[in-house]
Amino acid sequence: MAVAFAPRLLNPPFGDPGLYVALRHQGRAMLFDLGRIDRQPAASLLKIGHVFVSHTHMDHFIGFDHLLRIFLARELHLDVFGPPGIIANVRGKLAGYTWNLIESYPFTLTVYEVGLERIEAVHLPARTAFAPEPLPSRPFDGVLVDTPQLTVTTAHLDHRIPCLGFALAEKTRLNVRPERLAALGVPPGRWLNQLKDGVREGRPDDTPIDAEWRSADGPQTRRFTLAELREELLVTTRGQKIAYVVDTLFSRGNLERISVLANGADVFFCESLFLDADRDQASKRYHLTARQAGTLARAAGVARLETFHFSSRYDRNPLPLRAEAQAVFRGESPVDEPS
Ligand SMILES: [Zn+2]
Ligand SMILES: [Zn+2]
Repeated sequence: MAVAFAPRLLNPPFGDPGLYVALRHQGRAMLFDLGRIDRQPAASLLKIGHVFVSHTHMDHFIGFDHLLRIFLARELHLDVFGPPGIIANVRGKLAGYTWNLIESYPFTLTVYEVGLERIEAVHLPARTAFAPEPLPSRPFDGVLVDTPQLTVTTAHLDHRIPCLGFALAEKTRLNVRPERLAALGVPPGRWLNQLKDGVREGRPDDTPIDAEWRSADGPQTRRFTLAELREELLVTTRGQKIAYVVDTLFSRGNLERISVLANGADVFFCESLFLDADRDQASKRYHLTARQAGTLARAAGVARLETFHFSSRYDRNPLPLRAEAQAVFRGESPVDEPS
């Protein structure tokens, strides 16, 4: 299957969290968490259009300044999504610098604060020294981004503060069967995109689709219905899905929310700060153990589990943390039970 999303953690598992996801077809990228990013090439950071911040503990948010500095003088826009308090957190960061001499900078930033009931938003343009322009709020329904290609959904998890977990899912993929298209005797063109958009949007079966092309005799048109082309030409395939969960308590509520959020993911990136031997530390600090990460991955029925965000107490050896999580995930050792 061709890959739409190419995810990679920006730091080693003992470093700050940050998952960079290249969106292959668009040449753009998304970033989940904003820990230390100053060793990344600017060219790859500049592809980022969306940043999703789980929570603003320092190890998840210290990279904001670096990202801002790279974007500042460019004609670019960033959408930043975060938990309750994120607007004040971003404005607090911006208030830490002096912003004269940037009136000509075209950079703009929009911050979305994802509350339990509503999403508040504020627009912050560089040219006005980031004077906030409030945008209309909207009810929270779990969906942060919804484009014809993909969705990003979220859930509020409990880290003694709200912490957002995320899932990035490609919409059902529609591919054209080349041999059927050839048999139809009509060349490919923009009309194929009209067909795919119509199918994705669930338009009625009798919606007309006009195939238009140029031949030696001049412009040609042939009219089809959406239904006949859908049956004849298209193959649908399930899209790719990536889930990202950090800094969360192993509770029944979190287990249920994560099972839904990460359900069926191709890759599940999950923190596991501690080993099962230190489970008391984990619950005191509202974090997961490797065994608990394995339990969550099983409950969500994911294809692959990748654990990270390991505590420095384990002497820089990631192997026991990985082995514990994978053994539970594969069913070779028992799952944990939330208290
Ligand atoms: Zn953390
Ligand atoms: Zn934290």
